[in-house]
Amino acid sequence: MIRLTIPEIGEEAIQAAERVLKSGYLVQGKEVAAFEEELASYLGCSHVILVSSGTAALHLSLLGLGIGKGDAVIVPDFTFPATANCVEITGAVPLLCDVDPATYCITAEGIVSTIKRWRGMERIKAIMVVHEFGCPAAMDTIVDAAEQHGLMVIEDAACALGAHWGGRKIGTWGCCGCFSFHPRKTLTTGEGGAIATDDADLAGRLRSLRNHGIAQAEGENRFVMPGYNYRLTDFQAALGRPQLCRLNEWIERRMELHTIYRQNLHGTAIEFPADIPGHVWQTLMVLVPQSISRDALVEKMRSSRIETGIGAHCIHGLQYYKDTYPDQAEELKESISHYLFTQGLALPLYQGLSKEDVKRVCTALIRYMQ
Ligand SMILES: *Cc1c(COP(=O)(O)O)cnc(C)c1O
Repeated sequence: MIRLTIPEIGEEAIQAAERVLKSGYLVQGKEVAAFEEELASYLGCSHVILVSSGTAALHLSLLGLGIGKGDAVIVPDFTFPATANCVEITGAVPLLCDVDPATYCITAEGIVSTIKRWRGMERIKAIMVVHEFGCPAAMDTIVDAAEQHGLMVIEDAACALGAHWGGRKIGTWGCCGCFSFHPRKTLTTGEGGAIATDDADLAGRLRSLRNHGIAQAEGENRFVMPGYNYRLTDFQAALGRPQLCRLNEWIERRMELHTIYRQNLHGTAIEFPADIPGHVWQTLMVLVPQSISRDALVEKMRSSRIETGIGAHCIHGLQYYKDTYPDQAEELKESISHYLFTQGLALPLYQGLSKEDVKRVCTALIRYMQ
């Protein structure tokens, strides 16, 4: 079976995790602190706070920025549901924004038209920008639009560790940037996540919120607010550290494999996303023409022992969001996000994939599309 992805946990990472497991200190400790520093230096930001998942990173970011009931947050309509779920769980309203057909990300224009369309009572407070599949969203124009409208920017960079836009790492453009280390992402700790920020006060609140609301005051631990247990373990951090050293090399390899897909499928009805500089290709999602059933194609590929899948979800089409926000669902009925959800096909892509396997995938695709 050619898999969509296979996580790469090297011998060095396994030995590092084993050392922690044998040390007697398992939860957030020295390895977490060291990985936080290494990530901050890789990203070029002041603070990194490791947490238990990408979803925990999104949830804490919203809470840390004081978002909750009475607020609204702009969220792309095409994303993994966790992005919208985290907004909903804080009590705020997710304002769904359609995406660009070439990048699958939201744009400044889309954001401005979403703001103009909004008729609800809730005050728009922030924009959650998703760098879908590792593609950097156009952050300079998005940050400008946010400033003009007095909105905060949170980056859902769950798929985009290592991506950059305008010479600056993705995840460091907004108030804070959220990352995931789930096995579907390029760097994985099993479960895990991180928040990057340059704001020292926000970093302090996030550190307390992830650890039962504990803060250091006058050299002692105090429970200063109600918090969560969203900590990462030390053995997970130990797994991540050696992977960070190899990340740029892995990204290069993914870029190269994605180009081979483009070459092999050139001249077919398959549409590729834009090849944006700074894209890290966590996922390669192509579009199959409307005359072809994506789901039937996935089944046929499976019969050739090739795993493919859907790309991301269209939030307004999920039953909960359709029921809770019928007006938004109605407005987005003919959205680009819906098209991407029905015709998007994720292809196998990971650094360990061979060029021969890429060719096999392409040959099968071409055959089944006829
Ligand atoms: C993976 C992902 C998440 C969730 O991350 P977890 O670590 O699985 O909680 C959130 N947003 C996006 C865009 C993702 O791709």
